[in-house]
Amino acid sequence: MSDIKVQFWGSRGSIPASFCGNQVRLKIFKALEAARGLHLDSEKSINEFIDQTLPFSVSNSFGSNTSCVQIAKNSDEYLICDAGSGIRDFAVDYFKSGFGIKSSTFHILISHLHWDHIQGFPFFAPAFIPGNKIIFHGYHDTIEPTFRNQMQEPWFPVNFDDLAADIEFNIMKPCEPFSLCGFDISSIEQQHPGVSYGYRFLKNGKSVVYSTDSEHNNDAYKEDYPFINFFKDADLLIFDAQYSLADATFTKVNWGHSSNVMGVELAARSKVKTLCMFHNEPTCDDFELEEFLLNTKMYGDIYHSEVEPDMNDKQYPENIILAYDGLIVEL
Ligand SMILES: [Zn+2]
Ligand SMILES: [Zn+2]
Repeated sequence: MSDIKVQFWGSRGSIPASFCGNQVRLKIFKALEAARGLHLDSEKSINEFIDQTLPFSVSNSFGSNTSCVQIAKNSDEYLICDAGSGIRDFAVDYFKSGFGIKSSTFHILISHLHWDHIQGFPFFAPAFIPGNKIIFHGYHDTIEPTFRNQMQEPWFPVNFDDLAADIEFNIMKPCEPFSLCGFDISSIEQQHPGVSYGYRFLKNGKSVVYSTDSEHNNDAYKEDYPFINFFKDADLLIFDAQYSLADATFTKVNWGHSSNVMGVELAARSKVKTLCMFHNEPTCDDFELEEFLLNTKMYGDIYHSEVEPDMNDKQYPENIILAYDGLIVEL
C-alpha cells in the first residue's frame, strides 16, 4: 500500500472551464473515426479500444473544476489544498463512499484567496452537517472575513453563521511550519498578486509540493533561487503551468502564473521525480491541453540533450503529467 495518495478534484485556474455539446460531438466523431474498420463486437473489445487506443483527449477530459487537491485521508480526517469548485465533487464522492454518515474533520489549507480557490466552499455540503469539523489553515489574516463575505447577501442565500459544522481558522505566522494528518508541512511565499503560499508535505521520507499561483521570473535562473531548495527531490511537484513560454514572457508578465518551460527548468534542477502541471488554462479544450502536455514532454527531452546535457546522470523530472479532475497519484 502506498504511503501517500493525492487526488485531484479541481485542476483548472482562474475560472471553471466550460464543456459544451460541440466538444462532445467532436470526441464522438474522433472515436468513431478511429474505430472505422475495427470489429468491436464485444463489451470487452469496446472497453479495450477506449482504454488502449483512443487518446486521453477523446476518451476522457482534463475536467472543468478550479483548484482543489486532496493530499490525505486518515480514517475520518481529510487534508485538502484550496476550496475551488472541485471541493464540491470531493464532497459528492465523500457522501457516496458512505463517510457522510459519521462526523469527519476537514483540514483545508489555503494558498491564497482568489476566487478560483474559495468559490466551491459555499457548496461544500459537509459544512451544513452538525458534528463535522472544518479547520482552515493558512497565513493570510483575511482568510476568515473572505470566507464569511462570499456567503453574505446578496452573493449567497445561506449565511456563513448558519453553517452547522464547527468551523475554525488557524491563521499562522507567514511560513510557520506545522503538522497535520501525519505530514510535516513547510511553506514558501510566492510571487502572485496579493501573495500566495506553496506547501511542502513530508511523510515517511516521501514528499509532495503544492505550488500553484506562483510566477517565476528571471531570478529563477540564479543558482541560489529559494524554490530549488523548496522543490528539492520532491516525489511529486504540483506546479502552476497555466501559460506557454510566450504568454509568460510577453503578454502575461506579472499576472502571477508560470509556464510549462519554467516547470521543466525548476523540476530538473530540483531533481523532482514527477512534475504535475496544474492550474490549467480555462480557455484551452482537451485537445489543446493534450498537445500542451506533449510539447512539454518534448521540451523535457530537449532540455536534457541540449540545455543541460551533463547536469544529471538521470533525467529529471522522470515523469511529466498534466493534472486532470479525477487524477490519483500514489507515492
Ligand atoms: Zn488561481
Ligand atoms: Zn491567484
